[in-house]
Amino acid sequence: MERTDVMNIIPLKLSVTNCFLVKAGDQDQCVLIDTGYEDDWDLFRRRLKEVNVELFQVSHIILTHHHDDHCGLLHNILQENDSIRVVMSYLCKDLIRKGKNDRTHGGGLLNRRVALLMNLKRLYLSLILKKAIDKERNLTFPPYQLRNCDILITRDTGLREIGIPLDGKIIETPGHTVDSISILFDDGDCLIGDAAANFLWFAGTKYCVVFIHDMRAYYKSWEKVIAAGALRIFPAHGEPFGVDKLKTNLWKNKAENIVSHR
Ligand SMILES: [Zn+2]
Repeated sequence: MERTDVMNIIPLKLSVTNCFLVKAGDQDQCVLIDTGYEDDWDLFRRRLKEVNVELFQVSHIILTHHHDDHCGLLHNILQENDSIRVVMSYLCKDLIRKGKNDRTHGGGLLNRRVALLMNLKRLYLSLILKKAIDKERNLTFPPYQLRNCDILITRDTGLREIGIPLDGKIIETPGHTVDSISILFDDGDCLIGDAAANFLWFAGTKYCVVFIHDMRAYYKSWEKVIAAGALRIFPAHGEPFGVDKLKTNLWKNKAENIVSHR
């Protein structure tokens, strides 16, 4: 029987995003959770080397949502191993095909401090890195067209149901984006994508990520993760933390503080 203790969750820290490898089965097979920015390719390969994993060992990539910092490397990876099956929400399929972070479902930045930080970052990038500001503005990534071998998640789904030999499930956790999903293992480890985060504390984030599509849905997803038995939360941004942090910070940020994001 496989166990999914912390030892089996291997973080790959990229420029902004934490991706994760999870060892699955007895053949040294791995599942990769998220990729990273398109620019992270060299760093991604270095990180794989550091943990002695080769791309031929990866059987599935689970995308927690369609954003540029989560699926930017999909093409590079599949070019090296096109037998990897990509797993995503059925709502991700059309968004990922557009190659652009979704703005059609509303939402905005968490609060004015976060908005100020983002504007400062943009200003900094425009002064220092002329090319980076365009990317920052557009939030784009190489578009991805679903293949026949890929897997769409249409409801909360056991990992074994989709051929991943691990004890756990994929659960829908919308709020950051409409297509956000998380992976919850039976032992309480939860790879949560951007359905929670642990960074920019001084901006009052309180375990929320900086962009929120729907604040109510976001906290409803926290309630779902808590009720489902999560114990340790592994976010895509920032260090892992205990589920008690979600319990104590639930509903702390307010929908009325969200700053619309052009
Ligand atoms: Zn992200």
